[in-house]
Amino acid sequence: MRVGLVPRREEFDVVVVGAGPAGGYVAGAIAKAGYEVALLEEHREVGEPIQCGGLVTARVFDIVSCKETIIGRVHGAEIFSPSGRRIVIDGRETEAVVVDRAMFDRAIVTQALRNGAHSILGAQAAAAGRQDGGVEVLVDVDGHSRRLRCKLLIGADGVRSSVAKWFNILRPKKILPGFEVEMVGVESDPGLVQLFVGSNYAPGFFGWVIPSGDTARVGLCVGSGNAYAALEKMLGQPAVRPFVKRAQPILYIAGGIPLGFPKRSHADNVMIVGDAACQAKATSGGGIFTSLLSATFCAQTAIEALGKGDFSARMLHRYHKAWTGSIGKELRKDLAIHDSFSRLTDAQVEEIFEILDNPTVLRLIEGRGDIDFPSKVGWALLREEPRLLKYLGKALRAMVSRTVGI
Ligand SMILES: Cc1cc2nc3c(=O)[nH]c(=O)nc-3n(C[C@H](O)[C@H](O)[C@H](O)COP(=O)(O)OP(=O)(O)OC[C@H]3O[C@@H](n4cnc5c(N)ncnc54)[C@H](O)[C@@H]3O)c2cc1C
Repeated sequence: MRVGLVPRREEFDVVVVGAGPAGGYVAGAIAKAGYEVALLEEHREVGEPIQCGGLVTARVFDIVSCKETIIGRVHGAEIFSPSGRRIVIDGRETEAVVVDRAMFDRAIVTQALRNGAHSILGAQAAAAGRQDGGVEVLVDVDGHSRRLRCKLLIGADGVRSSVAKWFNILRPKKILPGFEVEMVGVESDPGLVQLFVGSNYAPGFFGWVIPSGDTARVGLCVGSGNAYAALEKMLGQPAVRPFVKRAQPILYIAGGIPLGFPKRSHADNVMIVGDAACQAKATSGGGIFTSLLSATFCAQTAIEALGKGDFSARMLHRYHKAWTGSIGKELRKDLAIHDSFSRLTDAQVEEIFEILDNPTVLRLIEGRGDIDFPSKVGWALLREEPRLLKYLGKALRAMVSRTVGI
C-alpha cells in the first residue's frame, strides 16, 4: 500500500536497485508473477541523466514493448580511417533504430509499475548486508534513512555497481570513459551513422555521429583519459568537421563502458544484471539489448527461486549459467576483438581499410553485419580475407582458427 511518495511497506520479496532498462525489466517481470518488488532509483526522474547514444536493433522490442520511443532508423554506416579514407556500408533496409533513451527507460518502468512493482525515486541504496536469511538494504530517500528487507536483492545499478561491490561479486577490469554531445544542426544523412576509427579521433575505441530525430549525438569512448578533451579534439578533425561545423550542443552525456567478464553474477540472496554485470559489448559499447536479454534470465531465475524459497548462490547460479551460455558467448568474443583492435596502430588501421574497401568484402559486411552479434561478420570476413588474421592478437587468432577453420 502506498501512502504518499514512498510505500509504507518495508518488507519485499525483491528489491531492485537501479531503474535503467535492466532494473525496470526485471522489476516488472517479477511483479507480474505476483511478487512484491521495490524498484529504487537514486535520481528523482527515471531516464535522466541520459548516458547513451540510443542505437539498438529491433530485437529489443521482442523483450520490451515501447516502439513509440523510436525517433530514427538507420540503414548503414560511413566509416572513416585515421587519414579520412571513407568506406560506406549500406544495408539499405533498417539495420538499427535510434530511441529516445529517457522515454525508453520510462516506458519500461511504467510497464513495471503497471505490473505491480513499487517505485521509490530519489532513493539511493547506501549499504546492504545479509540478515536472517534475507537482505537488509539501507536506503537514503531524500536525506532520510530507511531500511528495507527482502529475500532477494538485484543490483541493476549500472557501471559503478555498489551492489556488486558490497557482495564482492565483481569489479570491471576496466571502465572506458565516454562522452557524447547531443547537437542541433549536424549535417549528416539521417539514415547513416558515422564512425571514426584512429588515435586522432578516439584512441583505444572509436567516435560516432548517431542521428537522433532532428538532432544528432556526437560522441566517443576512449581507452583511458579525458573523454571530454578527446571529443573536443575529434570535432576539429578534417573528417569530422564537415558534419559539425554549424552544430551547437544542447545536451552533454557522460558515462562509462564496463569491460570484463564476470566469473559469477550472483551470490547468496543477490544477483547483478546489465552494466553492473559487465553485460555490454566491448566492440561497440552497446549494452541495451545484452542487458535486457540477460535481464530476462535474471527475472526467470528470481521467479524460480521465489517459488522454491531457495535464495542460495547454488540456486541463483542458474541465472549465471543461462546468460553466459547465451549472449555471454558473444560478449567473450567481443572482449577478445576489442583487446586486439585497441592495440592497432593507425598505420595498421589504414591497412585494414585497404583490405575492406573492396566490393565483395563490403557486400559481405552489408549482408552479414549485425550490431548485436559483431563477431559473426568478423568470422565471415576472416574466411573471405585471411590477410586480416595478422591484425588479431594471439589469443584471438587461436580462437578464430578453431571457429572458422583457417
Ligand atoms: C557514451 C555512451 C553511449 C552509449 N550508447 C549506447 C547505444 O547507442 N546503444 C546501446 O545499446 N548502449 C549504449 N550505451 C550503453 C548503455 O547505456 C548501457 O549498457 C545501458 O544503459 C545499461 O543498462 P542498465 O540498466 O544495466 O544500467 P543503467 O542504464 O546505467 O541504469 C542504472 C541505474 O541505476 C541507478 N543507480 C545506480 N546506483 C544506484 C544506487 N546506489 N541506488 C539507486 N539507484 C542507483 C542509476 O541512476 C541508473 O538509473 C552507451 C554507453 C555510453 C557510456
